[in-house]
Amino acid sequence: MNLNDDIKTIKGIGDKTAALFARLNIHTVEDLLKTYPRNYLSYGDTVNIADVEEGQRVAVLGLINTYANVKHIKSLTIVTVGIKDPSGTMKLTWFNQPYLRNTLRNGDSYVFVGTVKIKNGSKVMEHPEIYKLDKYRDMQQEYMPVYPLTKGLTNNTFVKSMKAVRSLIQSMQEYLPDEVREAQELMEISDAYENVHFPGNEALLKNAIRRIAFDEFFSFLYKLKKTKDKTFTFDNTHRIVKGRACADFIESLPFSLTKGQQQAIEDILADMGSDHVMNRLVQGDVGSGKTVVAEAAMFACVKEGYQAALMVPTEVLAKQHYEDLKASYEQFGIRVEMLVGSTPAKEKRHIYEKLKTGGIDVIVGTHALIQDTVEFLDLGLVITDEQHRFGVNQRERLSLKGDYPHVLVMSATPIPRTLAIILYADMDISIIKELPKGRKPIKNCAVGTSYRETAMKFIASQVAEGSQAYVICPMVNESDSLDVSNVVDYTETMKSYLGNTARVEMLHGQMKADEKAEIMERFKNREIDVLVSTTVIEVGVNNPNATVMLVENAERFGLAQLHQLRGRVGRGKKQSYCIFINGKATPESMERLKVLEDSNDGFFIANEDLRLRGPGDFFGIRQSGEALFILADIYNHADMLKCAQAVLNEYGDRITPSMLPEKERKTDTVL
Ligand code: ADP
Ligand code: MG
Repeated sequence: MNLNDDIKTIKGIGDKTAALFARLNIHTVEDLLKTYPRNYLSYGDTVNIADVEEGQRVAVLGLINTYANVKHIKSLTIVTVGIKDPSGTMKLTWFNQPYLRNTLRNGDSYVFVGTVKIKNGSKVMEHPEIYKLDKYRDMQQEYMPVYPLTKGLTNNTFVKSMKAVRSLIQSMQEYLPDEVREAQELMEISDAYENVHFPGNEALLKNAIRRIAFDEFFSFLYKLKKTKDKTFTFDNTHRIVKGRACADFIESLPFSLTKGQQQAIEDILADMGSDHVMNRLVQGDVGSGKTVVAEAAMFACVKEGYQAALMVPTEVLAKQHYEDLKASYEQFGIRVEMLVGSTPAKEKRHIYEKLKTGGIDVIVGTHALIQDTVEFLDLGLVITDEQHRFGVNQRERLSLKGDYPHVLVMSATPIPRTLAIILYADMDISIIKELPKGRKPIKNCAVGTSYRETAMKFIASQVAEGSQAYVICPMVNESDSLDVSNVVDYTETMKSYLGNTARVEMLHGQMKADEKAEIMERFKNREIDVLVSTTVIEVGVNNPNATVMLVENAERFGLAQLHQLRGRVGRGKKQSYCIFINGKATPESMERLKVLEDSNDGFFIANEDLRLRGPGDFFGIRQSGEALFILADIYNHADMLKCAQAVLNEYGDRITPSMLPEKERKTDTVL
């Protein structure tokens, strides 16, 4: 077996499993080895059921004392059994694993590992892992890697496959000279891969992560340096004459621009009118009004006779931008269309044709825009919104649709300037510092679960005043059906609590695209008062009439992500509120959430999160959400980013990294 062999050469992986791996972009043995755990679990001793408290993740040795019960609710299959130990009883439930009915026999004993909830006064473990006792005892000796999964692919399969290719790790080529490794205290690449998948101990695991983070940054910066040298020599083939048309558009807006917006638009027009192709990043906190900057840029481009494309990470966001653009461009006769994964085939063909022949001026879409079938007549400008959700290759693929079009990327990620200069070395940066005038600062509170009822009452009172609310339930992992059930359950709870005083609906990633679009549409049209959702709505969604953001189990989210979620409210003139419910009442988790109470500043929040992180927290919660890197996170591994930059400066072309294949998140299917 070789690193570049198909994963089907691995014992135990057939067509079916290979297809599941393919969904995660894993095709070869090397792809598999370069898919790192997203976390590690160490298994503690089993505890008595009587001693278990709500919200704890525990292992319980229990005897199954009921027959498995199978229920169907909508598209969910729920299997339930009861267990007991000498101290008490507990219920266990699994979603969409109907075959468990045959595995879990009355009278069998297993170790069940999971998080405990209290429902109707009894203890319930949802979706526990199941182990034979012997197996569990063995596992207690190890750190258990948790891999990114997709529906149908279990962590167990992942671990087994990894074990099957373990012997190949030693054949991975080191590319760093010994002197560099020694000076920077970086472990050898093969040791790093060994320990990231099969951690020897905590110290080795930490060093392995450090080394791999270094590699990811180094490869990225290396590639950036190569393209940077090229980019700056690109001539401007789509010269846009400054100010010619934009003023008309700006005049048509229902508000006046902030200073930051004006400056960003000026920067963009200057770039597009210069001798070189534009390559610019617009950075501005959530709600700072980046969309209108993009609209102005596309307007100028279209008025000059070229086409423009706007790529966004989710269909929900594409639809929103599409509606906004249609409304604001209508009076100018600009032809806007939308292209997303779920666009019907016939309509897609129609759009392809019009893009090719110039029948469309502005196209908004998701990854669907970078498919091979998409061709433009003359693409002058490409924009990626929420750029951190895209890989570099995806951004490049969109640019390649044209003949050196101008490039604009927009981001709300608060990256400290020192890091931004390294990461965006190839780009010019415009920063929008202030929020539009008239915004009232959001009022925040971080509270325990006992406050839930008060929070619901509060939502009811806001709805009575004509406002709308979001309720977010955690999404542990995109493939995890747990989050769906949370949303389903929670929607039911909200409905029964609010009765006919509010219209409650839900939204989650496993709904069909048109269902999601319909829900968003109705929420926007105020036909829904309370939207219970997963983090599908995390990025970009804009409904200025929403004034409450309630986040359940807020402790499970990174602070930066909570800040993004909070950005969904406070987008209009009304006073807005954000309630973070801490489901795990530890002082540490409360201290973290209190940071959000004290500050609305994205930079400050990201830094505090880093400061408050505990030992043994190997990855923390991904802060930046940057899709550029697989394992590395610009916040968590800022030191490695600087280190990679220093090595590159010193050694330049004398070191060639063994290039990492860029993993692209398929956000289209996920969200
Ligand atoms: P983000 O930077 O998060 O993408 P948006 O572009 O979605 O923010 O803008 C948020 C809201 O603010 C939108 O409803 C938009 O119409 C409004 N907005 C943008 N610029 C201004 C402005 N200068 N004055 C008032 N409202 C504005
Ligand atoms: Mg936006």
